[in-house]
Amino acid sequence: MAALWAPTAGQISPWDAVFALIENSITNGVKLHLATEVKGVRIRGKRVLGLEANGSFFEADWVINAAGSYADKIARMAGVDGYNIKPRKGEYLYLIGMNLKLIGYFSQRQHLSLKA
Ligand SMILES: Cc1cc2nc3c(=O)[nH]c(=O)nc-3n(C[C@H](O)[C@H](O)[C@H](O)COP(=O)(O)OP(=O)(O)OC[C@H]3O[C@@H](n4cnc5c(N)ncnc54)[C@H](O)[C@@H]3O)c2cc1C
Repeated sequence: MAALWAPTAGQISPWDAVFALIENSITNGVKLHLATEVKGVRIRGKRVLGLEANGSFFEADWVINAAGSYADKIARMAGVDGYNIKPRKGEYLYLIGMNLKLIGYFSQRQHLSLKA
């Protein structure tokens, strides 16, 4: 795994980092359930009992909601209302290989500047 360190910013490979975490977790006994969509959160009173997914019930003392832009949906399954995540569409433009006479660089203010 490679990494870059700079005084005001850092960069790592997100894929390598996640795979390393998964491999280490499995080595330490974690069971990974891929393609398993959480359809419901079973609660009793204010306690989480577990998750409903793929027609099975996964008992759990603790549930961490890490569903990204669907985290509001999972929260609602657990009876937590009051916030909605509104994803936005965006575009990436790659100028690599194009002869545009533009020089892109990260300035000390950490934003991408373009010089004509
Ligand atoms: C095109 C693009 C480029 C990006 N580039 C960068 C970048 O260069 N640098 C950077 O720092 N950030 C970048 N980001 C942002 C970064 O990807 C996110 O901030 C980050 O992935 C959020 O991580 P997360 O674990 O919270 O959620 P996610 O990575 O979205 O993970 C949520 C997971 O929950 C799963 N899930 C959702 N609902 C359910 C359900 N009901 N049951 C089971 N699983 C469920 C999803 O399948 C997903 O695997 C980029 C995002 C996009 C879209």
